[in-house]
Amino acid sequence: MSSGVSNKSAVQDDARADFDGDTLHEECGVFGILGHSDAAAVTALGLHALQHRGQEAAGIVTFDSDQFRSERHMGLVGDHFTQQETIDNLKGPYAIGHVRYSTTGEAALRNVQPLFAELDGGGIAICHNGNFTNAMTLRRQLIKDGAICQSTSDSEVVLQLVARSREPKIVDRFIEAISQMEGAYSLVALTRKKLIGARDPFGIRSLVLGDLNGAPIFASETCALDIIGAKFIREVENGEVVVCTPGGIESYFPFGKRRARPDIFEYIYFSRPDSILAGQSVYNVRQEFGRVLARESAVEADVVVPVPDSGVPAALGFARESGIPFELGIIRNHYVGRTFIEPTQQIRTLGVKLKHSANRMQIEGKRVVLVDDSLVRGTTSLKIVQMIRDAGAKEVHFRLASPPIKFSDFYGIDTPVREKLLAAKYDLEGMRNYIGADSLAFLSIDGVYQAMGHENGRDNENPQFTDHCFTGDYPTPLTDLSDDVDTRQAPRLVETG
Ligand code: AMP
Repeated sequence: MSSGVSNKSAVQDDARADFDGDTLHEECGVFGILGHSDAAAVTALGLHALQHRGQEAAGIVTFDSDQFRSERHMGLVGDHFTQQETIDNLKGPYAIGHVRYSTTGEAALRNVQPLFAELDGGGIAICHNGNFTNAMTLRRQLIKDGAICQSTSDSEVVLQLVARSREPKIVDRFIEAISQMEGAYSLVALTRKKLIGARDPFGIRSLVLGDLNGAPIFASETCALDIIGAKFIREVENGEVVVCTPGGIESYFPFGKRRARPDIFEYIYFSRPDSILAGQSVYNVRQEFGRVLARESAVEADVVVPVPDSGVPAALGFARESGIPFELGIIRNHYVGRTFIEPTQQIRTLGVKLKHSANRMQIEGKRVVLVDDSLVRGTTSLKIVQMIRDAGAKEVHFRLASPPIKFSDFYGIDTPVREKLLAAKYDLEGMRNYIGADSLAFLSIDGVYQAMGHENGRDNENPQFTDHCFTGDYPTPLTDLSDDVDTRQAPRLVETG
């Protein structure tokens, strides 16, 4: 789900300059449940488990057989949805919810999901994780045709298309709408009688189906089922539309069946390590990345130190494979947000210091292998290498449990514009020099696939995953980025309160 509201403050202007020309910056998590007496509370818990997927805003919409009710707030799930009064307002046994994060610095309540629209046949609320890569093009056409857009979110385009469909049934209207969308989407929609879950034809973003005492659930990840003690039923398949009613569950494949290409970055960084994606434990896969990395890029050292928290499983794998002792040589302060989401480079740099401290006694006089999951701008790595040297390390060797990120993501994971990606600017030696390590190595692309059980590595004819951040091989058209699309933005409403 992406948006592009302009904003006033210097920090936000700076942020926009930072991301200029790259308008797709959303990370999100979705949840939905049909037919539970505590639907809103259960949804709040599910969203809490998905908080790592988006920390900017959260929202829940319920239906109580008479009214839809909505609570949408800026901030964390725990900031708003732990209050009894808020949950009490969200009456009804049907609920969907969303957590969102945008990096453009813009913070507009009107973009917070679930988005809701009144249709001729009743209301519909939707939540979206992913990014539509032709939303801007469609939105321009819709506005030309007279549509009044209430948000600047690409997800609203789906609502507009549902509203315009002349199909008599809501499911057909929904399918007609998503058939026009390109890109990545896991969508959860709520109507008066139905809970709908849909995954894009490649299954780029994740979506699972669960069950809580007979109530069907959709969630971005299995960790959202675990928190409420729900049973995992299955993944929603790529290109599948699953429709839940009190009478049962129906499945549609409106785009035919094709091989899935889920996003490998869910395994590398985005998903929570205790989640199970397509039958594989994210934690185990990350350890395996570390093992393969240790085989590919061995180094003589005294201690393996993870960059917490995201580097921990891979560092464990590296340590186990190499036989080098594992130590928590960096301690993370959990009361600071992810550095990557700070809006300016200056603040981001400060954020690293606030977030990580060297555990000096584990480092002093030692040859240290630092392991992290990925290198994006290099901000974290640069600071951490310096911090480890300042703490008295004899040598610092940096190992990344993924290949160099050379291309931006346009499918719902925040990455900066290409020019800001360290690996797009420098070769290996240039990157090593930039971060100041004694040696630097990345997991190879075939190593990623081998760690995931594909012995022969990446199938270049028919890749098993989408790995566009590393290869530039985007599985869908990127219509909004084509040269003949007018990307100038019309003047927009700036919300200050
Ligand atoms: P950087 O300092 O810009 O190279 O960022 C690298 C760090 O950001 C690594 O520790 C990753 O765990 C983390 N990271 C990677 N991708 C993302 C993302 N999409 N959002 C937030 N953090 C990320």
